[in-house]
Amino acid sequence: MEGGNLVETAVFQASENLLSLIELESQQPVSRCYQCKKCSAGCPVGSMTDLSTSALIRMVQLGDIEMVLNSNRLWLCLSCKTCQARCPNGIDASVVTDVLKTLVMKQGRTPGENRIPIFYRSFMDSVKMTGRLYELGMIGLFKMRSGAYMEDMRLGIKMLRRGKLKFLPERVKNKNQIKAIFQKGGEAK
Ligand code: SF4
Ligand code: SF4
Repeated sequence: MEGGNLVETAVFQASENLLSLIELESQQPVSRCYQCKKCSAGCPVGSMTDLSTSALIRMVQLGDIEMVLNSNRLWLCLSCKTCQARCPNGIDASVVTDVLKTLVMKQGRTPGENRIPIFYRSFMDSVKMTGRLYELGMIGLFKMRSGAYMEDMRLGIKMLRRGKLKFLPERVKNKNQIKAIFQKGGEAK
């Protein structure tokens, strides 16, 4: 077999693998997509993402793992499910996106949009510490980690004045249950 053919075979196998993996993990019929683009037309974050919804699905079909895993779309998707409602094949791109996000984290890659994973992490760390979401603490963690110290400061002050943010955290009584949940999710500490 000539060198060119070998490369083509390897690319073909890699694309098959990505498509199979995503279909298996997401339980979505990604291979059925025929690029009608109805999902992209209704996506509320389409103007902010590097790939449209239909382009992401196409890249999964083609096995372009780099383009897919580096896309900021993975982190900006709102899980509003408009794409699923519009898709003639019932493909829920948000579930595909969730599987791809997990792959990014498992492979230790840098997310294509940095602040949203920082927000997720700060949210989960807050819940892990107290068993409930402590908004002020979560905002503090997020600002420290993202460097967005002054952003939304006025809004924060307004919310504090109106009692929408509590100064002190509420804690659940049985912290062991919370610990057990995180341990089950693979975050034992
Ligand atoms: S679920 Fe995500 S991809 Fe689908 S329409 Fe909503 S924001 Fe767009
Ligand atoms: S609506 Fe469905 S079939 Fe059409 S492009 Fe989007 S994912 Fe593909």
